[in-house]
Amino acid sequence: MNWQGKRVTVAGLGVSGIPAARVLHGLGAVVTVVNDGDDERARAQAADLTALGVTVRLGDGATLPEGTELVVTAPGWRPDKPLFTAAAAAGVEIWGDVELAWRLRGPGAAPWLAVTGTNGKTTTVRMLASILEAAGLRTAAVGNIGVSLLDAVTGDETYDVLAVELSSYQLHWAPSVRAHSAVVLNLAPDHLDWHGSMEAYAADKGRVYEGNSVACVYNAADPVTEDLVREADVVEGCRAIGFTLGPPTPSQLGVVDGLLVDRAFIENRRAQAKELAEVSDVDPPAPHNIANALAAAALARAFGVEPEAVRNGLRAFRPDPHRIEHVADVAGVAYVDDSKATNTHAAEASLAAYDPVVWIAGGLAKGAAFDELVAASAKRLRGVVLIGADRGLIREALARHAPEVPVVDLERTDTGAMSAAVREAARLARPGDTVLMAPACASMDMFANYNKRGEAFADAVSALAAEHA
Ligand code: ADP
Repeated sequence: MNWQGKRVTVAGLGVSGIPAARVLHGLGAVVTVVNDGDDERARAQAADLTALGVTVRLGDGATLPEGTELVVTAPGWRPDKPLFTAAAAAGVEIWGDVELAWRLRGPGAAPWLAVTGTNGKTTTVRMLASILEAAGLRTAAVGNIGVSLLDAVTGDETYDVLAVELSSYQLHWAPSVRAHSAVVLNLAPDHLDWHGSMEAYAADKGRVYEGNSVACVYNAADPVTEDLVREADVVEGCRAIGFTLGPPTPSQLGVVDGLLVDRAFIENRRAQAKELAEVSDVDPPAPHNIANALAAAALARAFGVEPEAVRNGLRAFRPDPHRIEHVADVAGVAYVDDSKATNTHAAEASLAAYDPVVWIAGGLAKGAAFDELVAASAKRLRGVVLIGADRGLIREALARHAPEVPVVDLERTDTGAMSAAVREAARLARPGDTVLMAPACASMDMFANYNKRGEAFADAVSALAAEHA
């Protein structure tokens, strides 16, 4: 494409807008950035771009600049924004940051192994990158994980293959991306206010399979992911590959006798499954995380990686902080930080890994219902400590589905509530139990983000440990 003089409107300053504006300006496009906010941070970011010769309009993200030939949007911008209505009316194309990266990748660019799903994306992408590295491939974990995909495809570094995390928002705005292989890990209601409905959310996730050339990987325990594969238009010869926590069929990866095995990518279909790794090679070896490891292994195997590299890559992998992170043992009780469990589907998965468990929960519910989560976990709960704005919703679900379980409702939403919660949890726990902070809610009612919430938990556990030392 000839970018010289092309009038591009970039919607939104921030992690995707700033690199997009810089790169497009560098290619000779005439770039205008429009941004809803007009605060100090936006002004500082605008000043940097203005110095380059980019026009920035702060406090006006609704009006389409005169003569716009293409809009490049930050992924989080909702499709019903007036800017997009105006663009559609004028016949102007709208690309997201991922679409832009795809269009700007050079000839012979590295293929993408793409990962999406409601939960487990970051973990799976990191496992995948670790496996690809163990295979001696030049790779990087990029995309929604917080590393700019645009920088990766337009920078000086060369890669053999990229491990790409894609959010449902990014997929919505990325109509022409074609991955080598991709996975939808799971699908549970999330971000429905943005997408409009569960169907629309699933359809956006399903785009990750469009045009795949080698494998569409689905979760055999989540039939909607398999439906999405069936509906996708793929390159001839592209295979549907499942992953399961049980013994695999001939087109699946699965688990047999404590081993992760592959029956899909083997030379002789009649041969035994190929051993990839031991369940204990996965950190932590909780069921949902084994699923993540199998998904990562499936994508790596689709790319031709040998079993040994799968094993070495999984062994080298360590989870990011606040994702089922074992913080300490105090008085025979394990304390686990899963602050990243910001929705009910995630919290249900981590609660399933512990028995008996004292659960610390609560925060911003984002419109979620807690009945299913509580009903599924009730038998394993030693007790529950509630904090945060929407704790009442969880309390009510507990009353309905786990009336016997002791509940401490701290009725607090201040940052000090976490240390009180840890103390209450310690009182409820018995030696051999786990105290799990997996709030099933967003953190913003009490903390700046889930990292801060996790740090508050770890600090409270350290204080408790110091008293027991
Ligand atoms: P994402 O990038 O999709 O937010 P992460 O890998 O950061 O996912 O994990 C977020 C949280 O989701 C974890 O802390 C854990 O509670 C939960 N989780 C991880 N993997 C899965 C999975 N496969 N299924 C359900 N929940 C999961």
